[in-house]
Amino acid sequence: MTTPASVLIVGESLAGTTAARELRTLGYGGAITVIGAERHGPYSRPPLSKTVLKDPTADESLGLRLDDLGVDVARTTATGVDVDRRVVTAVDGSFAYDALIIATGAEARRIAVPGQRGELVLRTLDDARRLRARMADARSAIVLGAGFLGMEVAGACAARGVPVTVVDVDRPLERVLGGYLSAAITARARERGIRFHHARGLATLAGDPVSGVRLPDGTVLTADLVVTCAGESPCTGWLAGSGLADGLGVGIDHACSTGVPGVFAAGDVTYLRANEGSVPPRRAPFWANAVAQGRVAAASVLGLPAAGPPTDDFFWTEVAGLAIKVVGPLPVTGEPTARDGDPGAGRALLTWDRPDGRSTVVAYGLRKSVAALRALAS
Ligand SMILES: Cc1cc2nc3c(=O)[nH]c(=O)nc-3n(C[C@H](O)[C@H](O)[C@H](O)COP(=O)(O)OP(=O)(O)OC[C@H]3O[C@@H](n4cnc5c(N)ncnc54)[C@H](O)[C@@H]3O)c2cc1C
Repeated sequence: MTTPASVLIVGESLAGTTAARELRTLGYGGAITVIGAERHGPYSRPPLSKTVLKDPTADESLGLRLDDLGVDVARTTATGVDVDRRVVTAVDGSFAYDALIIATGAEARRIAVPGQRGELVLRTLDDARRLRARMADARSAIVLGAGFLGMEVAGACAARGVPVTVVDVDRPLERVLGGYLSAAITARARERGIRFHHARGLATLAGDPVSGVRLPDGTVLTADLVVTCAGESPCTGWLAGSGLADGLGVGIDHACSTGVPGVFAAGDVTYLRANEGSVPPRRAPFWANAVAQGRVAAASVLGLPAAGPPTDDFFWTEVAGLAIKVVGPLPVTGEPTARDGDPGAGRALLTWDRPDGRSTVVAYGLRKSVAALRALAS
């Protein structure tokens, strides 16, 4: 494979900036162009729900950098790709490429019906600023969704003194972290004033503009602030007709190749294709995966072997001010082995051993380096 004369990266966030940096680290001296739709330029999303909602000064330290890499940045939105002619079209012009890295991430899943106004979500810096402003004078809040993001938004409401109720059919984080940790998390959140409403089916948004949540039995819960935290969808609209995306996103192999010559993908927009039928294809839209795939995609563009795999099973979140770090396969089920501490006391090191010899390690409110957790999990 010859080194491409130019690399085009669409998506100026974690996966895209990681890929650009890795290309330079690997010695690529050719032209790199990055197309990004957000006027703010690249920034890190995890602090949006952990600090930005609580602290206006947190906006200033979200940077992901591209300015030291000698890349051209075009702040515009890609609208299509012609993989035969190797051209990406955008709102402001078109961009030819030798190699393309798709890194357009995901957007918040919305559940408002067409025409229903005022749905609030959290995906971008603008979303976070809007929510933060609304929290300032809200006397009550409802968060729809008890996943990672919903629990973080609820934690921010509680920290700011806004009474908050989390509505979901599932118990908090139970689907990924299992019943044992879900119970500990729920107890901690309740102690900090977060209330839970266990819906017996899918809830919808009530009011226009949105002012509450309608439960399957017709009951409507209302609040000053209603935030939908119902997952995210890959940003693939611009790839329509190219054959590069399906309902799950952009399918990639272990080299982050899409299978279309010259086209690679990384980050939240992707899913790893089934591995010889043994692994169901699944999205894993987390920070560490976007970094791993940005690096792998860059190496593959240059025809080099990647330094690591395109997946990384490190994940972290925060529940009512308590940090939870996880290394290892998810979901976990059943009782863990407590290696240290006790979740009830807000500090524990827990492991779930699997039949295949691997472990999942969780540092629950405990300061432990990721390297130490990786060593325990392997
Ligand atoms: C509030 C929040 C908190 C999070 N917390 C955690 C956490 O604690 N731990 C964790 O592991 N993960 C967390 N994540 C997930 C993590 O941030 C993502 O996995 C990561 O941002 C993925 O990076 P990405 O570059 O693939 O996609 P994104 O960050 O989604 O970036 C994609 C970029 O592409 C741009 N784009 C989209 N379409 C186009 C187009 N057509 N043309 C040009 N540009 C386009 C978008 O505007 C965006 O800037 C969190 C996410 C959010 C939203």
